[in-house]
Amino acid sequence: MVIEQQRADVFDGAALRADFPVFDRPHRSGKPLAFLDSAASAPKPRAVIDALSDAYGHHYANVHRGIYELSEDATARFEGARAAVARFIGAPSEREVVFVRNATEAINLVAYSWGRTNIRAGDLILSTEMEHHANLVPWQQLATETGATLEYVAITDDGRLDLDDLRRRLAREPKLLAINHVSNALGTINPVAEITQLAHDAGALVLLDAAQSVPHMPVSATELGIDFLALSGHKMLGPSGIGALWGRRALLEAMPPFMTGGSMISKVTLAGTTWAEVPLKFEAGTPAIAEAAGLAAAIGYLEGIGMAKVRAHERFLFERAWAALSDIGGVRLLGPASPDEHAAVISLVIDGIHPHDVATIFDGHGVAVRAGHHCAQPVMARYDLPATTRASFYVYNDLDDIERLTDAIHATQRLFGTA
Ligand code: PLP
Repeated sequence: MVIEQQRADVFDGAALRADFPVFDRPHRSGKPLAFLDSAASAPKPRAVIDALSDAYGHHYANVHRGIYELSEDATARFEGARAAVARFIGAPSEREVVFVRNATEAINLVAYSWGRTNIRAGDLILSTEMEHHANLVPWQQLATETGATLEYVAITDDGRLDLDDLRRRLAREPKLLAINHVSNALGTINPVAEITQLAHDAGALVLLDAAQSVPHMPVSATELGIDFLALSGHKMLGPSGIGALWGRRALLEAMPPFMTGGSMISKVTLAGTTWAEVPLKFEAGTPAIAEAAGLAAAIGYLEGIGMAKVRAHERFLFERAWAALSDIGGVRLLGPASPDEHAAVISLVIDGIHPHDVATIFDGHGVAVRAGHHCAQPVMARYDLPATTRASFYVYNDLDDIERLTDAIHATQRLFGTA
């Protein structure tokens, strides 16, 4: 199958692969790696690897502590990374950006700190049926501990959020709506600005799980109007072990610490402790110092391309992949068909073949995809599926990867005699 040439206004993903050393690594299939699992975690460009190495090699000391040049240098770089995150997500101030390990920790921070302070028995919390477990289990725990009610906004057969169901549930005045921007299991892009307006009109705060959107499209917390945002560095070409929570300053200031100990205090006596200002109040212990430098480098890399271009590139790949996959008999695609509502994450089912077998056979063709429930078991239950195969695209992918994917599907179907 030959897919027509890449459009001129979309950049050359294959050329970008030269920036990512992992693509130099020989694959056991003997074929070049077609990496289609960026939604799980993304490869790192040399700029990020070099920034990590440089931070450890030349700028490393503990931050916010030392009264010596090296520590001041490390602190300035760490705080510079915070400013880079704020700029990247359209936050009004870097003082509202809290470094955490990942999106999971960011959401837990809000569930524990804001949740245990503001949620009472009988309160309503809303999440949705399309969430990653990271944006579901913390709310279940909060509801269990406080006696609050947790409900889930329904999703439609084609993987959209059911906005009528959302309106009905908002009418009961929930305290919080916890929702993802882009579903990692369906690829759905939720209309967050519209949803936030509805939620605010009903008096609910909005926590946005932006783990799958911030790496792939322009995202502005200010423009979306949300109250909290969670992201993971490792999904946006940055290191693992660092992520961020953004929250409105007034909310963060009113919240008690999540973890306590060193760094997050103003004054400690044996009688009691006062807290540091936000965001340090939420950063107990030594943070991920070099990883922050790596995250800043990842942001720099993405900004160098331009997030509007990243989105255009992925949208183009989505359109081509969706069309090519739709043409294959015995393949079912999940999520909305419109590229306006679907990120470059495609969950698919090949009739008669378990996704784990699919992924294993694909690997033999040098095509790396994710198979499983994608930490979204309620999504699998909604569509009565044990698992799906998921192909997710990023800046280094191109049309050749789509051809490799479709060829691998045909080969798998031939092997199983289902072609
Ligand atoms: N939210 C979404 C939508 C995700 O896709 C993921 C990871 O796949 C997470 C949250 C959790 O991210 P992390 O494991 O980095 O905390």
